[in-house]
Amino acid sequence: MFALIRVRWLVGLRPARCAVKARTVSSARVRGTARHDRVHPQLNLISKAGHWLRCDQYLEAIGRPRGVEVSESPAILQRSSLRKAARAHRIGGMSELHDECGIVAVYHLPAAPRSPLCPDPGPEQVSRLLPRMLLDIQNRGQLSAGITTFHPDRDQLIDTYKEIGTVNEVFRLSHRADADRLMEEYAGRAGIGHVRYATCGADDRSYAQPFERHHLQKNKWFSFAFNGQLANYQQLRQRLLSDGDHHLARETDTEIIMHEISRELSGDRRPEPIEVVRNVAQRFDGAYSMVFLNARGEMLVARDPLGIKPLCYAFDGSLFAAASESVALLNLGFAAENIKSLAPGHAITIVDGQVHIESFAASPRRAHCFFEWIYFANVASTLDNRSVYLSRTALGAELARLEVADGRVPLDKDTIVVPVPDTSKAAADSMAYELGIPAREGLIRNRYTGRTFIEGVSGRRKKAETKYTPLREVLEGKRIFLVEDSIVRSTTMRVLLDRIRALGKAREIHVRVACPPIVAPCFYGIDMSRVDELFAPAFVKDGTLTEAIQAEMARNLGADSLRYLPVASVARAINLPAAELCQACLTGEYPTPCGQQLYQLALADIGQQGATPRTYERLRDLAPAT
Ligand code: SF4
Repeated sequence: MFALIRVRWLVGLRPARCAVKARTVSSARVRGTARHDRVHPQLNLISKAGHWLRCDQYLEAIGRPRGVEVSESPAILQRSSLRKAARAHRIGGMSELHDECGIVAVYHLPAAPRSPLCPDPGPEQVSRLLPRMLLDIQNRGQLSAGITTFHPDRDQLIDTYKEIGTVNEVFRLSHRADADRLMEEYAGRAGIGHVRYATCGADDRSYAQPFERHHLQKNKWFSFAFNGQLANYQQLRQRLLSDGDHHLARETDTEIIMHEISRELSGDRRPEPIEVVRNVAQRFDGAYSMVFLNARGEMLVARDPLGIKPLCYAFDGSLFAAASESVALLNLGFAAENIKSLAPGHAITIVDGQVHIESFAASPRRAHCFFEWIYFANVASTLDNRSVYLSRTALGAELARLEVADGRVPLDKDTIVVPVPDTSKAAADSMAYELGIPAREGLIRNRYTGRTFIEGVSGRRKKAETKYTPLREVLEGKRIFLVEDSIVRSTTMRVLLDRIRALGKAREIHVRVACPPIVAPCFYGIDMSRVDELFAPAFVKDGTLTEAIQAEMARNLGADSLRYLPVASVARAINLPAAELCQACLTGEYPTPCGQQLYQLALADIGQQGATPRTYERLRDLAPAT
């Protein structure tokens, strides 16, 4: 029943755009509803059959978290309770790791011949490409999506549309007429876009990106979106608030970046976008791939000095496009040889129709997040000239080599390799190929449970149970190498082991992880910020991984054996020097000063009752930013 629930409300941000909308319900959308003061006081939740769904029913549907108070009247449900509920729902999500975001940009240069990749309505509607690009990087965030477009002949020179939901939901892609109307309304010859998963801040619509800052002066009226996280967010926040004259409405580094940019634009000077990013970058510590567009039609696409997050771009004559991942550009029709990764510390600017690629900050070293290749990125992407697919197959070959060297698990007709779908498939296939044994689909993943409410299903474990179905036809009586791309909190792995034994009737399960143990948090945009929430640190005390420790971890999980890859195999598989990768969550060696400081705080928080859920929220305890 709950999967069919739909929500309807008045959008009251801009009176001219007030409209009754009906979309698939999401926890965040319900929160969004509660925030609007023009909403019907009883939160207009209706079932498809026209029956009201009250807030308390909603909370039951998502699994009412402890501490959430629900009054008898749904109208009196407190906003804080809704937030708690939604946060609990998000924490109870099914994947163990989430990336922060993905970004895209597109620009058809003025007075230039039309690009053959341009959509049918022509260069003035090149913004129609944005939803398609965002779909290709949906893997990077499913919480919200949005675009800002520029049109010189429109009252709203730049205009932003964003909502909570997947790209499909937000842009109404299953409803051709609705989607077309939206694209007509937001048509432009330039645009930027964003998909979000929150590691910082709340989940409601006001946190969705791009962030637009309206201003009378064209060069001060801008919009931007970013992928990453500022590790010194709390310090920057304190600095902005220190004079007592400023106020920040949200708990997110996105708002900090917006104000830092605004500061650079204040006064009578008219700095170009490259000068703005040059100045703000001196104050930023962390990961930030960014797209920026102003009401003069000027665009900037920038990648942080360490290149922690990926950013690709391509030109096809008069058409420029950029995206977090190459797959979004390839699928637009750009030739593979024209798709490049932006160098760390570099920016592409389009000002007065002129394109420039230049450095905005020194890049003393690179620190590309290794997890992009192992887990986050679309397997069809190529990042920093390294194919994600080939990196994963190399990891599988590394696992096979370790297996042959060890030799304890017999490689006979009863032994099969089973990937945990989908991201482990390339590694599992490759491992099986190298070992000369079959790779079989013993686990079937339900791709449609991601953001739905299923009756009686709440909590991380329950949700993981609904996500994978073991196939007894494949697993019964078999000795299984279960290949997983990583183990973060171990919830999913425990569920899988239980279900493969109970439902699949496997004889033995040998867990093989195509990644080393994750022993430290991430402060650059991946949703794991405390040591206590990780599985491995309780076993891997001093960074040494022995056979005995792996045996103990296997016992704890309920596996017959467990093997991780060593740290050295990561750089080998990606085919980049280790010194050019961020591997901080494997080694505890962070590539930025604030990352290092936060790690010390995270270590001090181990075992502390009442420690803040996210370590970076404590950085305000340290020295303010200069
Ligand atoms: S800490 Fe780990 S997940 Fe975070 S950026 Fe570095 S390598 Fe990636």
